[in-house]
Amino acid sequence: MRIVQKYGGTSVGSPERIARVADRVVATRHAGHDVVVVVSAMGHTTDELISLANAVSPAPAAREMDMLLTAGERISMALTAMAIIARGVDAVSFTGSQAGILTEGRHGDAKIAEIRGFRVEESLAEGKVVIVAGFQGVDPATKEITTIGRGGSDATAVALAAAMGADVCEIYTDVDGVYTADPRIVPNARKLSEISFEEMLELSAAGAGVLMSRSVEFGRRFNIPIHVRSSFNDNAGTWVKETTVEQAIISGIAHDTSEAKVTVRGLPDTPGVAARVFEPMAEQGINVDMIVQNVGQDGSTDISFTVPKASAEEARSIATRAASDLGAGAVEIDLDVAKVSLVGAGMKSHPGVAARTFRTLADAGINIEMISTSTIRISCVVKSSDVQRAVQSLHNEFEPPMITEERGA
Ligand code: ADP
Ligand code: ASP
Ligand code: MG
Repeated sequence: MRIVQKYGGTSVGSPERIARVADRVVATRHAGHDVVVVVSAMGHTTDELISLANAVSPAPAAREMDMLLTAGERISMALTAMAIIARGVDAVSFTGSQAGILTEGRHGDAKIAEIRGFRVEESLAEGKVVIVAGFQGVDPATKEITTIGRGGSDATAVALAAAMGADVCEIYTDVDGVYTADPRIVPNARKLSEISFEEMLELSAAGAGVLMSRSVEFGRRFNIPIHVRSSFNDNAGTWVKETTVEQAIISGIAHDTSEAKVTVRGLPDTPGVAARVFEPMAEQGINVDMIVQNVGQDGSTDISFTVPKASAEEARSIATRAASDLGAGAVEIDLDVAKVSLVGAGMKSHPGVAARTFRTLADAGINIEMISTSTIRISCVVKSSDVQRAVQSLHNEFEPPMITEERGA
């Protein structure tokens, strides 16, 4: 078999842990498999590098930020290769650029566009284990080194698995798999043995940080089964794959504290107003998530929307410009918000989940500020100080995974 294994920051957080990773990689190689390993930076390296950057500049240049951050994965890839070689197995490490990971788009948030895996293939053919630095690539148009967004090593791994025609992509992390909620917040959350790409995509996009959502997109697009499991034991983890046998009404509950809410008051209720507000956001590449519009009795309207906290100031100034062009009122920003989301494919065929969600939050005394839904997700924005309680009470109420019917294998 051809296997891609990705090890996250905690899993390569110390020399001892790198040694355990090397043992596992060597065992997989000895079992006769071709192995490509993707590593994250050690422990909190990426956060530490970001703090260093902020200590020398109030607004670090995006290109230099990428030059800095990619160094984190370069350290762990070389150490992992050394540890494997020390165990008598030939190995070679490559940066994203050397591995042929071509990206497009902005520094800090580039997207993997193509993988030209010749060097990886050659090394595999020579019997080597190949270690690839996660989270990075090169923009072929500018020749610049890029990073692909926080948590991006997951996407590197699944994209590589697709490009190399791997049978499976194993994501080794510090929990035993994908749980029905973040186990740090809901201690009695349950590990899912499997989950569909569709549901995992919604959970990841709703903030379940265990898998970066772009990695799930690659998995779904190229049908690469993803096995999320712990690097600290041999327990079976969670299989993320095309279809699952059982269909849950609620598979999991995710939360996200990374967004801010922007409100523009007193906009005219006429055609073109929303376009005037959101077009310039799109031009600046600001990721707008939820949008709610309320029309008042006086014919004016308020629009609230959420954006990543990192884009909040930019969104505020864009919205303020639009508001003044349109003769609207004030623009407010609220950083103390969080989003809680319930995800489950069985929601489609079981009405009433939304009502039960709102009742549960009401009984917990939690005010809902915004609501959005997809066919398999319900999301509510609440005060950030309420979000843990919101996740816990919804988990108690729905006890995911609520299995409803056998789909037939
Ligand atoms: P890594 O460094 O291995 O990429 P991450 O910190 O990115 O690890 O992701 C693992 C973490 O994701 C877990 O420690 C857990 O707190 C968090 N998490 C959030 N939601 C979930 C979930 N539904 N299931 C499992 N872990 C989750
Ligand atoms: N080191 C990067 C981060 O901390 C990428 C990753 O770990 O996946 O975001
Ligand atoms: Mg991660």
